[in-house]
Amino acid sequence: MLPAVGEASRAKVHACATHCPYCALQCGMQLHAGSDGVWTVEARDFPTNRGGLCQKGWTAAELLTHPERLRAPLVRDRRGERLRAADWDEAFAMIVTAIRRAQERYGRDAVGVFGGGSLTNEKAYLLGKFARVALGTSQIDYNGRFCMSSAAAAASQAFGMDRGLPFPLQDVANADTVLLAGSNLAETMPPVMQYFQEQRRRGGSLIVVDPRATLTSASATLHLQITPGTDAALANGLLHLALKEGYVDAAFIAERTSGFDAVRKVAASYWPARVERITGVPERQLHETARLLGQARRAIILTARGPEQQSHGVDNALAFINLALALGKAGRPGSGYGCVTGQGNGQGGREHGQKADQLPGYRKLDNPEHRAWIAQVWGIAERELPGVGRSAYEMLDTLGRDGGVRALLVFGSNPTVSAPRSSHIEQRLDELDFLMVSDFFLSETAERADVVLPAAQWAEEEGTMTNLEGRVLYRERAAAPPQGVRSDLQILASLAARLNAKSIFSDQPAMVFEELQRASAGGLADYSGITYERLIREDGVFWPCPSPGHPGTPRVFLDRFATADGRARFHAVEFHPPAEEPDREYPLYLTTGRILAQYQSGTQTRRVRTLSQGAKPFVEVHPSMAATYGVRHGDRVRLTTRRGTAVVSAQLNPGIRMDTVFMPFHFGGDGRANLLTNPALDPVSRMPEFKVCAVRLEREARGERTEP
Ligand code: SF4
Repeated sequence: MLPAVGEASRAKVHACATHCPYCALQCGMQLHAGSDGVWTVEARDFPTNRGGLCQKGWTAAELLTHPERLRAPLVRDRRGERLRAADWDEAFAMIVTAIRRAQERYGRDAVGVFGGGSLTNEKAYLLGKFARVALGTSQIDYNGRFCMSSAAAAASQAFGMDRGLPFPLQDVANADTVLLAGSNLAETMPPVMQYFQEQRRRGGSLIVVDPRATLTSASATLHLQITPGTDAALANGLLHLALKEGYVDAAFIAERTSGFDAVRKVAASYWPARVERITGVPERQLHETARLLGQARRAIILTARGPEQQSHGVDNALAFINLALALGKAGRPGSGYGCVTGQGNGQGGREHGQKADQLPGYRKLDNPEHRAWIAQVWGIAERELPGVGRSAYEMLDTLGRDGGVRALLVFGSNPTVSAPRSSHIEQRLDELDFLMVSDFFLSETAERADVVLPAAQWAEEEGTMTNLEGRVLYRERAAAPPQGVRSDLQILASLAARLNAKSIFSDQPAMVFEELQRASAGGLADYSGITYERLIREDGVFWPCPSPGHPGTPRVFLDRFATADGRARFHAVEFHPPAEEPDREYPLYLTTGRILAQYQSGTQTRRVRTLSQGAKPFVEVHPSMAATYGVRHGDRVRLTTRRGTAVVSAQLNPGIRMDTVFMPFHFGGDGRANLLTNPALDPVSRMPEFKVCAVRLEREARGERTEP
């Protein structure tokens, strides 16, 4: 029998091979139950982390027995009253009553579902099915919309399919040149740096594009310290030079692509002096970057949230894809364009139906054949499937409004901290008739809920995740959850039964995965040949894997791209400035991102002792700029944008651009970065512009001076 979390077991009698609960690298780890009830983590040799873990992984087990862990449902009898403990029947009854009331008064779409990119494939799948079958609502989206949606949309347009990395990480180590745009992997995903270090040891070049000097840029051949929001101009400028210097692969373009002429015309107007003016990247570095990419036999271009979390994020990603295609560095062994997925199951979470426009297997809700396929798997008529719903921010913006969502069910997400313009989102949440949150801890969003359900953690339930490479992997169940705690699958199955849902809602991960296999069969993200047994035996399987005997597909696009004619599509994209630029009132750029010790909205990592020691919100400012505001290291400063104000301490860093300040987005309260960010949305991906807005900085109070 598995030891239960919080109970002592016999000394190290139980050990299980699992994966880290946090980011998309999904490092392999061994989890041990100790005789004293303390769980410990050991690094495990898995193809992605090769025995490495970062401090988030090392300390992940602390959360299993954390004293703040929720162990019983909490309910609120009336707004303004405190949450009180309740039993599951009472909590379920309140949820079902609220769902029925909202749908009877306002229609099916009055109930919304907000999911998360850390949920297993099984949960993401069942959540999408629950929304469309049990609730009959089109209103479902998830926090992955705030992460990879721009690159996903761009890859779908250009290659016909979005698989974050279309190749295994080992290809990074073997590449002659790697360009990494908008990611600080040395802090966010440290074990992955092994591949970059190996690449450098072999004589390869690494080019990092980032407004800040970071641990990652410190190991680069070239650091392009770009002006925030100007990525498309940079990529177009590099293509201009590639054309001029003869690096473009005409044979590849002719044989495997379409649409290059329009892109060539656009690139003509991005001459180096103009690109330097827009991006701040010196001409000499532009020439050097074009040469390193153009002369490489194997080159890889990677984008991450820097260029993607913008109101022109899709164009930015397309501009980098254009560059990779023009150089003939896509769809070939050892070369390619990829997006570095961030969230633990950011990849799988966007494949199996918790996105507003998608059905399992990367099928589309507005495609009649796709609808018919999924309807027959679910045993319902195709006409019963709702249509495409609103994207994450757009749905949150409707909460409590006429025609909007009146009752919201949140699973594994904390939009009060993670959504842009978050004070507005708090107001919208408070306007709801009903809010339910399922989580391990009382997150800032759960604090506002009418019902909070205590959910099982990663080590307490089995399931699959799909990592940043498109490798599907298995997470073993190491422990029974504490008494009073249930898994999200159990919660969804119980609610579906109480709502008299048609179709079967199993609460068993293996059964849900079998259904997912069938649902995904024939889709772009085809998992039909993947089984739990194979995942354990083979250290994961890359999708697509369309039959039991299929080996999986570590490298996609080698023979053809996933478009109707097999050719990749160029898209002519111009540079457009961000939705908001600095002016007299708000004279600086604000950019946001992650730091080493924290993960996403911090619901988990802010509760880990070693990670939270001294952890507090801050803003990074260039010392010269700080001096003009009379700000010293450690001072309390007030940051104001057109959305709101945040108060944090100042950290001086000569490695950041003079015109830019940086804030991590993991913290709640009045130091929340997302009080400031701009919800301007990309017209295609509906991604908010987290990475750039205009801000004003003022000193609030003199701090205790600690030298940087
Ligand atoms: Fe690995 Fe990411 Fe976990 Fe760190 S947070 S141990 S990099 S999976």
